[in-house]
Amino acid sequence: VDLYRPRRANSRGLEFGHRAALAALVKGVDATAVPVADARPVAGGKALQGTARPVVSPVDGKTVVGTVHEAAPDTADAAVEAAAKGFAAWSRVVPEERARILERIADAYEDKQDDLMALLAAEGGRTLVDGLAEVREAIDFCRYYGAETRRVFVEKVMPGPTGEENRYRHRGRGVFVCISPWNFPLAIFTGQIVAALAAGNAVVAKPAEQTPLVGAFAVRLMHEAGIPGEALQIVPGDGAVGARLVGHRRVAGVAFTGSTETGGKINRALAAKDGPIVPLIAETGGINSMIVDATALPEQVADDVVMSAFRSAGQRCSALRLLLVQEDVADKVIDMICGAARELTLGDPADPATDIGPVIDAEARDRLAAHVARMETEQTVRFSGATPDGPLAGGTWFAPHVVELESAADLTEEIFGPVLHVVRWKARDLDAVIDRIGATGYGLTLGVHSRIDAVHRKVADRLPVGNVYVNRNIIGAVVGTQPFGGSGLSGTGPKAGGPDYLARFAQEQVVSINT
Ligand code: GLU
Repeated sequence: VDLYRPRRANSRGLEFGHRAALAALVKGVDATAVPVADARPVAGGKALQGTARPVVSPVDGKTVVGTVHEAAPDTADAAVEAAAKGFAAWSRVVPEERARILERIADAYEDKQDDLMALLAAEGGRTLVDGLAEVREAIDFCRYYGAETRRVFVEKVMPGPTGEENRYRHRGRGVFVCISPWNFPLAIFTGQIVAALAAGNAVVAKPAEQTPLVGAFAVRLMHEAGIPGEALQIVPGDGAVGARLVGHRRVAGVAFTGSTETGGKINRALAAKDGPIVPLIAETGGINSMIVDATALPEQVADDVVMSAFRSAGQRCSALRLLLVQEDVADKVIDMICGAARELTLGDPADPATDIGPVIDAEARDRLAAHVARMETEQTVRFSGATPDGPLAGGTWFAPHVVELESAADLTEEIFGPVLHVVRWKARDLDAVIDRIGATGYGLTLGVHSRIDAVHRKVADRLPVGNVYVNRNIIGAVVGTQPFGGSGLSGTGPKAGGPDYLARFAQEQVVSINT
């Protein structure tokens, strides 16, 4: 057993059952006083113009959290050009110094934990549990990639004949565009950027349209921690801005997390460009499944399923979409899941009693509602939760649902929200169940609940899935412990928070000297 341990530790959590600690946290996180009011394009250390639009909270549909100044496409060009200039100086900063700056970003995030959580709640609808986990994950990315910078980017002397010295080293590729999603507006946003910077690239970051303020605040903290203005630019805007960034001839690489469809578009746009072939690091969607056999512990299954399918309102790439449960235990397991789902509280994300916040926007809610309406006519809806009324009624709410499908083949697309689909299978059909999961073409997360070792070994061996979880929930991959990312329709790899990530942002060079 090889325990791979770089010198660093994950950030500390909080026991929510500890009343004094929780009370202090709740007091600190004031979602009505967010730390940043404006998200502007910033390039070469200067704020640029954009078209102003209010950012409205998904929690009540009316509170204006701040203003985003969305970039026009030529501002995107200016940001890439500023980054191309900034690359020259940043690429000469030695790895040790880059690592130290990453660690200072981690310290700054730790200092501003409450402010970040307030913003995550107000702009992103993130609950306290999710917000804290997200700030911790962002901190962990900074410290882990800091440690990795020291390990990976050390110049190596390669073996060779006498009279010759062969030096192998990594350098930045140039301008990296980082395009991140609204579901982890801090952790994934930060992870991509600090990885690209750690490898010696200059960065143009585009935060998700729905969460520009978290992005703006994070970039401010990164600049204050020592990332030069010229090395990191931010361009809030819509898909057209993203397309303009990706299409720019000076771009040397793209890191993207989001839908499989957009990942495909970026890949095609990069392929259509003249000039060098540039890498795309993409982490996309999943139709994540969990196989439960008759040996599983039903109480634990119910607990893990509810967490995997409904936590964060199901708005995680890793979330459980399809539960495949062996017929012998299906009634019991489904009843327990519906019973547990009934206990979930939807409400103000800044209230510690809340389990589930709103979905991100009206478009997401309407898409989920249309899906459930179709399920009501074509399949059997076993559970529908209730949404808040009163002052929060105007928020974009969508309650947990449990839908029983006739066949696993009836779920053909990723449903990005709190809708769990369940199918039953017969003991002799395990192989067919495994093949069915493989046939989705996705390979992000997978759960197995079974007390037979041979079952989970077989499932993991047969399916090229990035993260397999046995007898536990399938979300919340921990940086440096469960490197995260998938294969097939779920992404290109390498895994975020893992030992192979940083090198993919860099370019290798060998210098051979006749001595
Ligand atoms: N890494 C997260 C998890 O394990 C999911 C990331 C995502 O949704 O993109 O839950």
